[in-house]
Amino acid sequence: MKKEATYYEVLNNGRVRCTLCPHNCVIGEGKLGICGTRTTESGKLYTKIYGEVSALAMDPIEKKPLYHFYPGTSILSIGTVGCSFKCQFCQNYHISMNPDYPTDYYSPETIVEMALERNSIGVAYTYSEPLIWYEYIYDLSVLAREHGLKNVFVTNGYINQEPLLELLKYADAFNVDLKSFNNEFYRKIVGGKLEPVKETIREISRWENIMLEVTTLIIPGYNDSDEEIDRLTDFLASLSPDIPYHLSAYFPMYKFTAPPTPVEKLEHLKKLAEKKLNYVYLGNVSGPSNTYCPRCGALLIERYGYFVKKVNLKDGKCVKCGASIPVFE
Ligand code: SF4
Repeated sequence: MKKEATYYEVLNNGRVRCTLCPHNCVIGEGKLGICGTRTTESGKLYTKIYGEVSALAMDPIEKKPLYHFYPGTSILSIGTVGCSFKCQFCQNYHISMNPDYPTDYYSPETIVEMALERNSIGVAYTYSEPLIWYEYIYDLSVLAREHGLKNVFVTNGYINQEPLLELLKYADAFNVDLKSFNNEFYRKIVGGKLEPVKETIREISRWENIMLEVTTLIIPGYNDSDEEIDRLTDFLASLSPDIPYHLSAYFPMYKFTAPPTPVEKLEHLKKLAEKKLNYVYLGNVSGPSNTYCPRCGALLIERYGYFVKKVNLKDGKCVKCGASIPVFE
């Protein structure tokens, strides 16, 4: 469904500037922005994807991945089409790189009803990039909050500060993809800039009522050097050493043919990241992925795939030593 965009400026000659994300696309009559979902008509900017859903499922919250947000629960997850980035290794390229992929319209009321019927803890905006779906995810977040549902965003973090601050009022959890700590990687392979993503992470980390987790897809030869992970984890630790950090295995996809990430590489980088951060996890690999108390080493949450069991965790504290653990439950 088409709906007038919330963030844009009118320029001359019928053109407008979209001010939703740092691309700040200038869009002429009938043309599209970089994300392929916003167009100008009669001097106004419209989103073409309001309520347009390409994928919908009940997922374990751990699949987002969120390991510190209501562990062991399920969440109604929805996604649309298009993306503000053009990652050449995109793992969901069939919907993100194809704004014409078939969708069905779901009103915010319908999604809230579905979430309540299915005993979901809330709504997750995921699969493709939710921030370019802004008008819809905003309306839906307001309604979901009114019904006691949580709002979870799985995103590339590419958004301008004004719309971000407005959305954060209704957000409960974020997993932000920090694809690299190298601006050249963002420029050449992703089609964006690193600094605005850091700014998004910085801003979310200031909100104590929002769980922030961060993920990096590790691609051999591109973003897997010790030096890069060192700088990246320094940045996260400067915000809080308690930010859960996921190192995910890459598999060849879309335009990328680099070999899959060796597990040994991920394990090595995990050890490196653990020098700065208290909670580091591996993703897209088999085996346990437990949470331990950073103070006394007690097992707090046992995970194996989507099997999840809280062990020594009660009311956000380690039962063994009383340390505060950043887990919403
Ligand atoms: S949201 Fe889309 S149209 Fe708007 S600035 Fe970003 S890429 Fe361009």
